[in-house]
Amino acid sequence: MTSNVWYIILSLLVSMIVAFDEVNLTQQNKENILCRGCGLEISTSSDIFLKSSAKSRYSFYDTLYGKDDVLVQIFTTDVFFHYPVITFKQSTCVPTGEWEETTSWFPDYLWKPCVCSECGAFVGFVFKPVYSSVGAANNQFYGLVLTTVISENFLDFITEYPANISN
Ligand SMILES: [Zn+2]
Repeated sequence: MTSNVWYIILSLLVSMIVAFDEVNLTQQNKENILCRGCGLEISTSSDIFLKSSAKSRYSFYDTLYGKDDVLVQIFTTDVFFHYPVITFKQSTCVPTGEWEETTSWFPDYLWKPCVCSECGAFVGFVFKPVYSSVGAANNQFYGLVLTTVISENFLDFITEYPANISN
């Protein structure tokens, strides 16, 4: 009799833990990351990947776009410009200008600025390996500047009408 009660309590606990895990999983779902200027999709949270550079001024991990432990690296061009950068495997931004080799934040990579294909706003940088090999296009990656993009979920949240005036 007593063991039955324990069994019920135990199975309740297990189902609560499973439910809690499912909530955590849905929080890890893909979020669209948009141009702050026009709202065009620039990338998604599932394209974020870890690419750390010893050349960053400093860096930290944060929960961003529904993802834990996203590396944010602060890079500087000179005294005036500080860029908080997150690295992505893919982006819809359009590379502009010539490939630059000097002062690359990622050694052995060329870089050029990348702009929004819709409004032309600067959103970050694209990097490609100096020494190309077969399939090198896959090694290209993007460093998007945190202050130029915004999460779609956050935008939905702040633009939602209060329920009492939605009709
Ligand atoms: Zn734009």
